[in-house]
Amino acid sequence: MAQIIDGKKISEEIKKEVKEIAKRLKETKNVTPGLAVILVGDDPASQSYVRSKGKACEEMGFFSITERLPANTTEEKLLAVINEFNNNSKIHGILVQLPLPKHIDEQKIIEAIDPRKDVDGFHPINIGKLVAGLDTLKPCTPAGIQELLIRSGNDPDGKHVVVVGRSNIVGKPVANILLQKQTGANAVVTVAHTGARDLLPYIKSADILIAAIGKPELITGEMLKEGVVIIDVGINRIKDASSPKGYRIVGDVHFESASRVAKAITPVPGGVGLMTVAMLMKNTLKAAMMQTKTTQC
Ligand code: NDP
Repeated sequence: MAQIIDGKKISEEIKKEVKEIAKRLKETKNVTPGLAVILVGDDPASQSYVRSKGKACEEMGFFSITERLPANTTEEKLLAVINEFNNNSKIHGILVQLPLPKHIDEQKIIEAIDPRKDVDGFHPINIGKLVAGLDTLKPCTPAGIQELLIRSGNDPDGKHVVVVGRSNIVGKPVANILLQKQTGANAVVTVAHTGARDLLPYIKSADILIAAIGKPELITGEMLKEGVVIIDVGINRIKDASSPKGYRIVGDVHFESASRVAKAITPVPGGVGLMTVAMLMKNTLKAAMMQTKTTQC
């Protein structure tokens, strides 16, 4: 049976480290990392993500503000709120919870955030730095995937990593992180997507498979190479009459059949999902340190 890559344990480890460094930052420089989370509208999933971010800030001893705006908020109003946080020295990180209502141009909003405060790592300046291999605020889920690999003893160095999915928030950034000539990366990376005429040869050739597709259990055990390491990013709801909620959450990989073939695998839930908030805390701390010119504390 495959090693289970425990996202809960690894994310707790990271949060513990962040909390300790934040404590020293407060003691030595009197700086408390501050995060502003902006939520537009009342989407229940977004509300729950925002709550968990606020809770994590509390746990870390961070200062945090949650700005809740109605669904009919204008783009101008949202830009004004971002501008205020850009100019607020107590706030080191700004996160606008996506998706935004249709009448708001998401890209314009992302680009309005001061890149030094862009803890989601979606600003084109930060994406450019990431691609160039420069130190920057990396998108949280992809950075979390790298941590999962390293901390579970599955260093991507020299491995063939196949990423299925090319979204701007997962597929493209994780591919770019892992191909850098850097410690904890240096992989040979292939990115597959719907343009692939046949997905199978790509999947079969992976030493490390990162599935960021959004299709429930699309990848099954017989499609995989023996000994592959699987990072399953997918979060999909499927009907399940036996569950009190009437549904359950599954990944993009069929866990049971894949774990018979794989060397290691992340569960869903309990894998990548938990890493995102931990990496957001890490980015907020990093942003606070960068803005206060702290290299070590
Ligand atoms: P997107 O829908 O933005 O991207 C999906 C990608 O998968 C696209 O590039 C698409 O290709 C590709 N794809 C879809 N179907 C196939 C197929 N049959 N064969 C090959 N490629 C395919 O999704 P995201 O990247 O935003 O998210 C992916 C999954 O990860 C979702 O389940 C999401 O919920 C989850 N997620 C989890 C996070 C977490 O754990 N914290 C964070 C973010 C996402 P093409 O570009 O050609 O359309």
